[in-house]
Amino acid sequence: MQDVAHRATAANGAVRAVAVVSTQTVEDARIRHATSATATAALGRSLTAAALLGAGLKDRQTVLLRVLGDGPIGGVIAQADADGHVRGYAVHPHADLPQTDHRKLDVGGLVGRRGMLHVTRDLGLRTPYHGSAPLVSGEIAEDLASYLATSEQIPSVVALGVLVGPDLRVLASGGLCIQALPGTPPEVVDRLEARARQLPPITQLMSAGRTPEEILAASLGDLDPRIGDRTPLAFHCRCSRERVEGMLCMLGIQELETLLAQEGRAEVTCRFCGDRYVLGTEEVRALIARLRGAAPPVM
Ligand SMILES: [Zn+2]
Repeated sequence: MQDVAHRATAANGAVRAVAVVSTQTVEDARIRHATSATATAALGRSLTAAALLGAGLKDRQTVLLRVLGDGPIGGVIAQADADGHVRGYAVHPHADLPQTDHRKLDVGGLVGRRGMLHVTRDLGLRTPYHGSAPLVSGEIAEDLASYLATSEQIPSVVALGVLVGPDLRVLASGGLCIQALPGTPPEVVDRLEARARQLPPITQLMSAGRTPEEILAASLGDLDPRIGDRTPLAFHCRCSRERVEGMLCMLGIQELETLLAQEGRAEVTCRFCGDRYVLGTEEVRALIARLRGAAPPVM
């Protein structure tokens, strides 16, 4: 099944929903960052959460999620845009914990149950919209639902799941977000929540071969669901050699001279995707020459 974010509405537009399949995206992230089993689940849920929020974006808008708990993973960052590009990383990707008593990956323990969830939506306006809420459990789905309810005042049902195989590969990853827009009658919200409680875990539905359309239809039930359009998803980072050169230029001539004297080259690794950029002596010299050319003449 190809990775995708699929949208739907229900109850005459009062309810909107997104179902995401993110198996390949999360597997790509796992390979790039060499995450432990539990870190794969934490990063995968965060990437899927970003994709769920990203499904409502347009044009060049982006959404950034920062899950900053007090657990050993040290923080998880995930970003998505309107084109279905998702990227992210864990601060300590190799951190891991034993499984819980119920033989589940201890995502809450790895993330930490105390901390904050920050959401930044860059909607192309002068300043990005920023909101945050305290973590509830560190399991991420509950934390996001709590954030949406308290900080954005939108009652939301959020489900996230990442199934990691014994060989650490991602077998299934997906998510579901159902939101009742302001003014939705409380009984509709109650029905949604009751239905969500009856649904099996999202990875179980996916493993049983359910498509995002079927998952949306099952979760919206008798609220007259209308299945909308879909956006393909992929792990994709917007770093490039040009951006790395621009970043190095911002260090200034003196810093670059020092770097050249000490290292003989510049090496930059993108945190989001793990790609490594190496600029040799001549390339760093060219950057310095470019900066000298751009500098105002010395009087
Ligand atoms: Zn990158």
